[in-house]
Amino acid sequence: MLEFDTVIGLEVHVQLKTNSKIFCACSTNFESPPNTNICPICCGYPGVLPVLNKKALELAIRVCLALNCKINKRIYFERKNYFYPDLPKNYQISQYALPIGEDGFLKISSTKTVKIKRIHLEEDAGKLIHKDTYSLVDFNRAGIPLLEIVTYPDLDNPDQAFEFLTQLKLFLQYIEASSCDMEKGLLRCDANISLKPKGSFVLGTKVELKNMNTFRGVKDALEYEVERQKSLLLKNENILQETRLWDQTKKKTFPMRTKEEAHDYRYFPEPDLKDFIVSQNLIEEQKKFITETPLQKKERFLKTYGLLEKEIDTIISDVWLANFFEEAVKFYPQPKEIANWFLGIFLQNLSDLHYNYNEVKISPHNFSTIVRYFCEGKINNLAVKKILSLSISTDKNVDQIINEEGLLQVSKVDELINFVNEAIEQNSKVVSDYFSGRKEALEFLVGQIMKKTKGKANPKMARELLEKSLKEKKNKI
Ligand SMILES: [Zn+2]
Repeated sequence: MLEFDTVIGLEVHVQLKTNSKIFCACSTNFESPPNTNICPICCGYPGVLPVLNKKALELAIRVCLALNCKINKRIYFERKNYFYPDLPKNYQISQYALPIGEDGFLKISSTKTVKIKRIHLEEDAGKLIHKDTYSLVDFNRAGIPLLEIVTYPDLDNPDQAFEFLTQLKLFLQYIEASSCDMEKGLLRCDANISLKPKGSFVLGTKVELKNMNTFRGVKDALEYEVERQKSLLLKNENILQETRLWDQTKKKTFPMRTKEEAHDYRYFPEPDLKDFIVSQNLIEEQKKFITETPLQKKERFLKTYGLLEKEIDTIISDVWLANFFEEAVKFYPQPKEIANWFLGIFLQNLSDLHYNYNEVKISPHNFSTIVRYFCEGKINNLAVKKILSLSISTDKNVDQIINEEGLLQVSKVDELINFVNEAIEQNSKVVSDYFSGRKEALEFLVGQIMKKTKGKANPKMARELLEKSLKEKKNKI
């Protein structure tokens, strides 16, 4: 049977992290009430003049540097002419012939480097809200700075596309160029995909895929397309060059009803904006923000901390988490112990705060102190949970909480033994169950000791003392 190679290219739009729009002073907060963050410039009134937002240019340069692109020293903007109800000017200011960055790459594994074709700056359009018999338009988004990142058709399968997107998103977050929140549409991705006979150098007919709202959606849509195109090719049928929409519910792609074949956008240089020179100073300034790539971070974490790959993936999935973890380990160099509590109870606490890091007040130092006290046997795991819940939004001193709440662990033998003896005396039925071989009876007795000490007993020690006392008791019978 004929075998095929899959060829995938991606086109990613990310919203740059600026406070104001790309050509006017309106706020980029598109979640404000509809049509409140707008002005004559972003609404395209005649006679107004756009002014380029310096921060948008800086962030674009930063992304180009991060993705190893060649940066064009002289750039200009062009008008992309088309009519659409959410495009108030009837054209979009974009870049065409001369994008800000070209020919870059992002290494996503030891064996795969994805080549970047071009990166250009442009403005976003507004948003249409379709009702039953009419549509509404909100221009809050119109004029928000976007960066379009286009890869070469360089990805070999849907999994690789997923991995590239995941790492690109992380990297853009690391360098603080975009928050990449997909749910809010701050990162959007289209894909093109074609199949060709295995080993052939001639590319097949490509199909463009749109409307994928998650990375998972991108992967599912591509997987569906591989199968659809394969079955057509095996039947000797032609693949139509077209744009197809992914339907997340039906898990299928469908041809777009409006045919957008080879648009003639009649690009021409934007007459209201002059050429811009990207100075070496501007480039040097942005170099300071380039961090290690997600792959480099992962490799370093694997080497330095000796954790499981799965654990590291979670820690580096967010730059805030990764930095907090590294700081905590500096204060208490026991990465395994830190990771244990970090990935367990700490993440649970963060999730209760909806990962709103502004509300997290605990310092990495205090967090590492809690873990250290646990490892030293000063406090038990119940106390860890309590201290953490009391300090996560306050950064209250750990020792102070321990004193105030009386959480110091009971781990002196002469103190604990009284509770052990009490538990044995008061639960003779459970004790005889234990003697008859029911191991879980021991857990019940440990539980009783924890209860009597209000959770302060050192559970390991309590269990050892209990086993010892029970053994002695059995020998006496
Ligand atoms: Zn405006």
